[in-house]
Amino acid sequence: MQSHFLKKKYLLTPGPTQIPEPVLAQLAQPILHHRTPEFIEIMHKIQSGLQEIFQTKQNVLILSASGTGAMDACVSNLFSPGDPVITINGGKFGERWTKIAQAYGLNVIELKTARGSSIDPQTVAETLKQNPHARAVLFQASETSTGTLFPTQEICKIIQAYPQCISIVDAITALGVFDLPMDSWGIDVLLTGSQKALMLPPGLACVSLSEKAWDWQKKAQLPRFYFDFAKERQAILKGQTAWTPPIHLILGLQKSLELIQAETLQISFKRHALLAKCTRAAIQALGLSLLSEAPSNAVTAVKVPVEIQEGKLIPKTMREQYGVSIAGGQDELEGKIFRLSHLGYVGIFDLIVGLGALEMTLYKLGYRSFTFGTATGAALQTYYQQEIQ
Ligand SMILES: *Cc1c(COP(=O)(O)O)cnc(C)c1O
Repeated sequence: MQSHFLKKKYLLTPGPTQIPEPVLAQLAQPILHHRTPEFIEIMHKIQSGLQEIFQTKQNVLILSASGTGAMDACVSNLFSPGDPVITINGGKFGERWTKIAQAYGLNVIELKTARGSSIDPQTVAETLKQNPHARAVLFQASETSTGTLFPTQEICKIIQAYPQCISIVDAITALGVFDLPMDSWGIDVLLTGSQKALMLPPGLACVSLSEKAWDWQKKAQLPRFYFDFAKERQAILKGQTAWTPPIHLILGLQKSLELIQAETLQISFKRHALLAKCTRAAIQALGLSLLSEAPSNAVTAVKVPVEIQEGKLIPKTMREQYGVSIAGGQDELEGKIFRLSHLGYVGIFDLIVGLGALEMTLYKLGYRSFTFGTATGAALQTYYQQEIQ
C-alpha cells in the first residue's frame, strides 16, 4: 500500500534530535539585531540556564559551530605546538580528538579501546605516570559511535593530581542526559553541541573552562582567530558573542533551556535512564545483544544478528519503508551495528514507534525468532513497572 501517511517521519538519531514545538515556534520569530538591549537580556538568561546545566560557576561560552568546532577550538585555544596530550579513542569521536590534536601539531599519546569497551581509569593513571608531562587528557563522557559511557569522574580525579594537566571532556551526548557536575567533579573543560540534548538544530556549541584551563588559555601559543576563548569570554560578560551568532538558534536555546529547567535536570537524568533501560530490555527480549559493555543512557548500540547479512539494510529499511530514522554503524562498525537514540526530546511513545518499526524491519530482513510485540511489550513492561513504583 502506498501512502505517505504510513511513512510519517520520526527522528530517533543521536543528533540531530527532535525539536520541541515551542522551540520550533521560536525559530519562526522575526529576526532581531544582536547588538541590542533586548538580545543582551536574552543572552544573560541563557547564561544562567547554561551554568545550571553545566553545573558550574564559570562562564559558558557560545560558539557558532557544530560540536566539532568546539573540539577544534579547545585544541587551538589551550595548547602550544608539540605539547604532549593523551587522547582516549573509544570510537569515532575519540578518534576525532586524536585527529584534531595531530592536525595542530600536538604530540599525541592515544589510548585506543576495543569498540564498545569503556576504559579502566587505572589505564589512564598508568599512562599519566609514564607521561608525567602530558598537558591534557581528552575524551568523551559518552562515545556516541558505540553507545558507551566513560568514567569521567574517576578520570578527572586522577588528572587533578597533575598540576600541569587538564581534563577536556566532550559531553555532546552526555550533558543534560546524565549527571556531569563540572565544578564538583573538577572537570577542566566541558563542551556540548546544540543538536543533541539541547534539542535544537545544529549550529551552536557551548564550552566552559575551569580557572586552571583559563591559565592554559593565556599561555597557549597555537594560532587562532575566529574561535578565541578570551574574546568570547569578554563578549559573554556583556551578554554578547564575539561575532554575529545564529540569532534564531539563540532564541531557540532560550526556550529549550526553559523547557529543561521546567522538567528539572534531575528528572531529565531519570527520564533518559528509564528510556535507556526500556530500550535495553526491548533489545534483550528480541534476543539481540548490545555492543557496549558500559551502555550510555543517550543511545543504544545493537549488534546486527548473524541472520541479517547486510546490516546496513536495517536503518535503510526503517527509514525508507517506515519513515523512522535511526543511526547505523560508522567506519569499522558499518553494517555491524545499529543505534537507537533516546536522547533529548524523547518520550516512551517515541521509543515504541522506533521499536515497532525495528520489529517490522528485522522480520522483513530475515530475523524472525520473535513474535510481534516482543520489543514494544518489553519496553512498555519496563516503563510501567518503573512508573508504578
Ligand atoms: C555529535 C557528536 C560530536 C560532534 O559532531 P558535529 O557533527 O560536529 O556536531 C562530537 N562528539 C560526540 C560524542 C558527538 O555525539
